[in-house]
Amino acid sequence: MTLKASLKRRILLDGPISIADYMSDCLLHPEFGYYTTGTPIGTEGDFITAPEISQMFGELLGLALVQAWLDQGSPAPFTLAELGPGRGTLMSDLLRATASVPGFHTAMDLVLIEASPRLRARQAEALSAHAPRWLPSVEDLPQQPLYLVANEFFDALPIRQFQRAGEGWRERRVGWDDAGNTLMFGLGAEVQQPALAHRLQDTREGDLVETCEVACVVTEAIAQRIADHGGTALLVDYGDWRSLGDTLQALRAQAPADPLQDPGQADLTAHVDFEALALAARAAGCAHTRLSPQGVVLERLGITERARTLAAPLDGDPLAALIAAHRRLTHPEEMGNLFKVLGLYPAQSAPPAGLEP
Ligand code: SAH
Repeated sequence: MTLKASLKRRILLDGPISIADYMSDCLLHPEFGYYTTGTPIGTEGDFITAPEISQMFGELLGLALVQAWLDQGSPAPFTLAELGPGRGTLMSDLLRATASVPGFHTAMDLVLIEASPRLRARQAEALSAHAPRWLPSVEDLPQQPLYLVANEFFDALPIRQFQRAGEGWRERRVGWDDAGNTLMFGLGAEVQQPALAHRLQDTREGDLVETCEVACVVTEAIAQRIADHGGTALLVDYGDWRSLGDTLQALRAQAPADPLQDPGQADLTAHVDFEALALAARAAGCAHTRLSPQGVVLERLGITERARTLAAPLDGDPLAALIAAHRRLTHPEEMGNLFKVLGLYPAQSAPPAGLEP
C-alpha cells in the first residue's frame, strides 16, 4: 500500500477531499507522512531552513526573546517554547546565546511541540543538556509567561482553498482521475462561506483565497498565554499580510515538484496569511507588531556585527560560506524579503527588539 493508493480508496468511497485533508495525510500520516517517515530538513534533506543556514539566526532570535524577558521584569518561572523545532538547531543556538544571561536558564521550562516522532528523537539528541519536554499541543502550554519562537512551522499547517464564484465560493479539492490514474484538482459546488464574507470586498470572480483554521487556533492559544501572563512570540515564515492566489507548493530534493505527484514524498507548504494570525492574536487581547521582512529584522538585531565577529578568525572557504549565509538570510532577493516576522506581545509592554508596533 502507498499513500496514493490509500488516498484513491478514500476518494472513491467518500468523494473528493479538501486540500487540508490532503496536506494532513501527505505530511503527517502515521505510516506514509512526509514528516513522520523522512529526514526532510538540512543539506541532505528536501529543504534548508534559516537555522540550518547559519547559527546567527537562532542566536539573534534568542537574544530578542531574552531582551523581552528582561524588559518584562525577568518573570520566573516561564515557558521557553518552540513550535516545530525540526532538528533542534534553532533552539540549540538560542540556548547557547542566552546561557550567560543571569537567571534565564534556571527559570525556564523548556517546551517543544513536534508532531514527528523521528524529529522528536533528533531534538532530544540536540538538546540533551537542557531537559526539554514535549507537549501534544499548544493548548497544553503551562499557565505562565510564554517566550516562544516558530520558524517555518505555520507554512506546514493544512490550508483550504476557495475560488470566488459570484457572491459565494467553490472549494478546491483533490479528486481521482481514473483515466490518467492520478490525483487531480477539482472544484466543489458554490456555497456561502461566512468566514470569508470580508473577502467579498477585495476579490473578483475566479480569485483564489486560502484559509488555515489550525494556524488561527494555534495563534489564539499562544496569544492567550501572553495576554494573561506576559511573554513574547516571534513567528517567522514565508507569506504575506493577506492571502490571495494559489500558494500550495511541493519541494523535493530542493527543487519544486508537482504537489499531487507522489504524495508523502515531498514537502508541502503554503504561504502564511499573517493578517489572519494577527486577527487571532488581537481576538485574544494580545498586541502584535507590524509584519516585517526577515532581512530587516535580522539587520536591526545586529546580524552584520555578529557576522564580523564570527568572520574574524576565518579565511578561505569557511569565510566565503559565512558571507554567503549572511547574504542568504538577509538579502531581498534571497530569504530577506520573502520571509517575514510577526511578533506577539502584551498590550501594556514594548514590542520585541527588531520589530515595530
Ligand atoms: N523550525 C525548523 C523546522 C521547520 S519544518 C527549522 O526552521 O529548521 C516544520 C516543522 O514543524 C517540522 O519539525 C515538522 O515536523 C513540524 N510540524 C509540522 N506540522 C506540525 C504539526 N501539526 N504539529 C506539530 N509539529 C508540526
